[in-house]
Amino acid sequence: MRFGIAGAGFSGAVIARQLAEAGHDAIVFETRDHVAGNCHTERDAETGVMVHRYGPHIFHTADERVWSYVNRFGVMVPYDHRVRTTVGGRVYSLPVNLMTINQLFGTALGPDDARTFIAAQADSSIGEPRNFEEQALKFMGRDLYEAFFLGYTRKQWGLAPTEIPASVLKRLPLRFSYEDSYFNHPHQAIPRDGYTAVVEAVLDHPRIEVRLSTPYTEADRGDVDHSVWSGPLDAWFGFAHGRLGYRTLDFEEIRADGDHLGCAVMNYGDLEVPHTRIAEHKHFAPWEHHAQTVCFRETSRLAEEGDTPYYPIRLAEDKSLLRSYVDAARAERGVTFVGRLGTYRYLDMDVTIGEALAAADGILAAVEAGRAV
Ligand code: UDP
Repeated sequence: MRFGIAGAGFSGAVIARQLAEAGHDAIVFETRDHVAGNCHTERDAETGVMVHRYGPHIFHTADERVWSYVNRFGVMVPYDHRVRTTVGGRVYSLPVNLMTINQLFGTALGPDDARTFIAAQADSSIGEPRNFEEQALKFMGRDLYEAFFLGYTRKQWGLAPTEIPASVLKRLPLRFSYEDSYFNHPHQAIPRDGYTAVVEAVLDHPRIEVRLSTPYTEADRGDVDHSVWSGPLDAWFGFAHGRLGYRTLDFEEIRADGDHLGCAVMNYGDLEVPHTRIAEHKHFAPWEHHAQTVCFRETSRLAEEGDTPYYPIRLAEDKSLLRSYVDAARAERGVTFVGRLGTYRYLDMDVTIGEALAAADGILAAVEAGRAV
């Protein structure tokens, strides 16, 4: 069969590869002039540093299938991600751990005492947290929440934390130890040659054709047996029900000799500081050495038409709009919707790859059984 795949990010590339290896032809259409979607990396011409063009991406997973899959296509160098945050002119450790608690409260508590101390601050009247703020108040109390999450979250999402789902905060752990690795997953790594090289390797198959700077049109859909759409869900339907909301990011470059931050990511929790974080790209590849540095200072805002979409907002009104699109997608024949944009969800890379593998399994099983995909 012949498949038309819209988008050369991880979703589109992995599905194309799986279909190609099963003996099908895949044409991948990508509107940008590069593959790898928002994971795109490239060497900065001036410094030689591998830059994460659309903001920092750290690969982490507990999914063995996904881990062995990415290792087929690139050398994954173990990388332990650590993040600091600047609040009120002081620097603290993240995610919230024993160091953060002792720094904020000027204490020297051990794990048990810290647990008791935080439990006394936590709001036990909250049952099942209904939003980000309730999740924070229930598990860490007001002081930690207001210092590290309130300002940052308002800047990142442009909303009060009461309007943001609790699931967003559940991404981050609260630890009663000095463990300050940002993620809990057993596999954490950065590809030695960047994400774009990994995606290029995934797409490097005789049955895959990649067309860069080429949108996937109605005419293209007519030329294939089945489509896979990793573009924005609402765009497939010509925005018939309205536009789904996204946050977009603006990056301002900082260049210097030596080091600027001294770490990979520094968050800025104060509402008065306009940016949310600064990423110093050389520190995502600690095995490389560069005399100069390039950083991205990141600010978040509501995406307008033509902006790169990053984070799905999923407010109440977006959710009802989303429901109309999900119903429309269910009824639509001849297309599979995948990925962060195609399913309008806040997905990490490993989940995206896992879902792409599962989607390809589903397509291949249907083809084999002679069912409609
Ligand atoms: N967050 C925060 N303060 C921080 C870091 C994170 O309030 O210093 C909140 C913020 O709402 C963010 C969420 O926690 O959207 C999840 O953080 P994560 O680091 O996973 O965000 P990502 O790197 O995916 O943007």
